[in-house]
Amino acid sequence: MSSSKMANQIDPTVVFGFTNLPDNRQREPLRIVRGKGVFIFDEHGKDYIEGASSFYCTSLEFSEEELIEAAVKQMRELPFYVTATHRSVPVVEELAARLAAMAPPNMRNAKVAFAATGSEANDALLKFLWYHNNASGKPKRKKVIARLGSYHGGTIATASLTGWVKYHAGFDLPIAGILHTEQPDYAHMAEPGESEPDFADRMIGLLRQLIEREDPETIGAFFAEPVSVSAALALPPATYWDKLTALLAEYEIRLFDDEVVTGFARTGNMFGCETYGFAPDCMTVAKALTSAYQPLSAVIMSEEFYEGLERGSAEAGMFSHAGTYHGHPVPAAVALRTLELMEERDILGHVRAIAPHFEAALRALEDHPLVSGSRAVGLAGAVDLASPSTESGTLGADVAARCDANGLFIRPSGDTIVMAPPLIITTSEIDEMFRRFRLALDDSLEGTPK
Ligand code: PLP
Repeated sequence: MSSSKMANQIDPTVVFGFTNLPDNRQREPLRIVRGKGVFIFDEHGKDYIEGASSFYCTSLEFSEEELIEAAVKQMRELPFYVTATHRSVPVVEELAARLAAMAPPNMRNAKVAFAATGSEANDALLKFLWYHNNASGKPKRKKVIARLGSYHGGTIATASLTGWVKYHAGFDLPIAGILHTEQPDYAHMAEPGESEPDFADRMIGLLRQLIEREDPETIGAFFAEPVSVSAALALPPATYWDKLTALLAEYEIRLFDDEVVTGFARTGNMFGCETYGFAPDCMTVAKALTSAYQPLSAVIMSEEFYEGLERGSAEAGMFSHAGTYHGHPVPAAVALRTLELMEERDILGHVRAIAPHFEAALRALEDHPLVSGSRAVGLAGAVDLASPSTESGTLGADVAARCDANGLFIRPSGDTIVMAPPLIITTSEIDEMFRRFRLALDDSLEGTPK
């Protein structure tokens, strides 16, 4: 028997991403079997509040019959057909029109390319940039800049865009031409006494140096989320977005807005770019687009950017980019119903109304000995943890494990806990969520056996 198949060891068949793989031979996964509202249930019937919407996705909860019906109806009518060549499915065109109409005003007459995942949308956008620039007399402008701490996906190109060494190491990444600048993480990186505008100046100064060092004529785009949830909810400091967009305009570098997490009301506006007041050239969306009931993502691009793709295609004869599931009718039908429900139920209004309660509950944790700071935007929040008796970098995982035990799922990011519950959460559910969180903090403080 090989050492990997010793007696009493688990032999998992699923490759569990974002785990230490050898651990899976010692530890069974927690098996989730059903969901209701903001709650999910494991195979033993224990309930958990999904305080992070399972990777920041399930905006409209875990048991929305309307979305289930939309999928079933579409499956009965036409379960699948490719949207490519000169064939299409009406629901896909309807969804594209709706997304285009939702795009920020500077993207009038926007065009939409569908894909299945957030990674794929970002990957396609990078590919489109290269194609656009080749067709627009700018073949040198191929490099892109992203930010340290930001997550943009798991494909070869988007894992390269992702600004974390742990997503590169061992995979021979990042690929050439992808650069990283600082994350504007005021909460953790500001010098003592440094104001938000001064910190923003410092971040923009570092970016300017990078652009100058690399040769501005070689840089095509800057990829960023309006606020990076993966960088422990690094709220951008005051003036950052104004200064950033001015700098990019100065060097004619496009701004690509990754709205995969922030899109569809998470930050208190339909898109994060509205919350932070900037106008992107293109944006990518996924996750909450279908409340994650179906895999679907999209690149939403300005008409001017699309015209570059048209020029390239006019020369080549065919735009050689499509995917079997790019515009699958079932996810499209679910997305359309998701967007309708958001409007019918005024989910944006609900987020705006409930966000102050969420933020107040979060801030109230600051009296806890393990909490060193907190911040929130819309229905996304972060709690920084610190303890003199716990090794730095291990407290977040410890508190996360204790949240599991107390029936709450959150996302640890180093020693920060990130929360982003389904958007339909009520005030009493928020209170229950924070009650469970405080129990987890107490357990961690007291060292209660796990
Ligand atoms: N962009 C952001 C900001 C994300 O947080 C994620 C995933 O969490 C992605 C892109 C990649 O999306 P997906 O996991 O659907 O490929």
